[in-house]
Amino acid sequence: MDLSLNDEQQSFRDLAREFLDKEAVPHRVQWDRDESVDTSIIAKMAEIGFFGLTIPEEYGGLGGDYLTYVLGMEELGRADSALRGIVSVSNGLVGKSILASGTEEQKQQYLPGIANGTILGCFGLTEPDTGSDAGNLTSRAKRDGTDYVITGQKLFITNGTWADVALVFARTGGPGPKGVSAFLVPTDAEGFEAREIKGKLGLRGQATAELFLSDVRVPESARLGEEGEGFKIAMTTLDKGRVSVAAGCVGIVQGCLETSVEYATTRTQFGRPLAGFQLVQDMIADISLDADAARLLVWRCADLIDRGLPFGVAASKAKLFASEAAVRAANNAIQIYGGAGYIDEYPAAKYLRDARVMTLYEGTSQIQKLLIGRAETGISAFV
Ligand code: FAD
Repeated sequence: MDLSLNDEQQSFRDLAREFLDKEAVPHRVQWDRDESVDTSIIAKMAEIGFFGLTIPEEYGGLGGDYLTYVLGMEELGRADSALRGIVSVSNGLVGKSILASGTEEQKQQYLPGIANGTILGCFGLTEPDTGSDAGNLTSRAKRDGTDYVITGQKLFITNGTWADVALVFARTGGPGPKGVSAFLVPTDAEGFEAREIKGKLGLRGQATAELFLSDVRVPESARLGEEGEGFKIAMTTLDKGRVSVAAGCVGIVQGCLETSVEYATTRTQFGRPLAGFQLVQDMIADISLDADAARLLVWRCADLIDRGLPFGVAASKAKLFASEAAVRAANNAIQIYGGAGYIDEYPAAKYLRDARVMTLYEGTSQIQKLLIGRAETGISAFV
């Protein structure tokens, strides 16, 4: 197995890091305090190519491989996970769903704009009463002639107040996952409202919203895939989304490693650098090991995706391990910083707050374990 990067992958990673060190790292503390990034960063990230990484060139993207995509997500996670989420949801969850299941017309309508950052997408699956149990969602899309009329509520939707298009999952049929369909809903449609949720523990720079759909009318051409395929579209997309979350977590762990080593080698106590104490090296070694192990799990997923092989269980393992590793690494980084680790001026505290949600969204750690357990035993513990 060749674990080296080719020239293109290496140069994208270098470009991404240089850009983010200049445009994001100096502002991330303020964005976090303001509970919003400066949204002009979105157009700048689009220029670098973040939003079009895996969108084919014929639709205005870079047509890159998946390994390049995860390298980009790692750099975003290292710089500011709020930015990683904005990109992952628009390009990843929405763009990839359209690419996989959209009609040619839908691809032409949305993908070039998503790739160049002029169209931002959000992914509306979670509802107040259905999170992990998304297959039982209750939003409804009723047929009315050649239109659908959608009514329902969505919760915790990343990019919700900024998005131009919402990929909304709503029930067109009977109970359970097979009754769910997917719709591309313009956010300026009559009856569509997004309200921002403030006060998040982490990812404070990105907009998270509650969506309210009251009799939102869309034409049949807004349906993504066939009736009843919505849940399958969501789950297939989330498999790739988990790889993206895991890659962002690798970036958090890497950031924790770099900042911990820098701090521990410059601060002295008892007449020597912190890094000279074995108990401090123990924590640094743990972070370093977590970075390597998480990155290898993520790269394995990218390799499977690039070769067109099944990757769902590998994605669950990568997401489970990398997200838990990110929390561990950020905790260790705070410990190495001592009291300074508790103050947001230094990076460790934000890394911990941002890492914490990674074990919750796109399938909690418990849900990943059930997916892995089902694959190993052949028995589903979901029902
Ligand atoms: P619940 O499903 O109620 O789970 C609560 C607890 O019960 C968890 O510990 C869970 O692991 C456990 N649990 C549940 N079922 C089982 C089981 N069968 N076995 C064992 N344990 C179980 N959603 C979107 O659709 N789009 C987005 O863009 C989006 N962005 C988000 C951004 C943020 C910042 C946050 C916090 C959430 C976001 N979400 C989004 C929602 C997220 O995906 C859900 O919060 C997540 O799926 C968990 O659902 P829940 O919060 O309803 O928790």
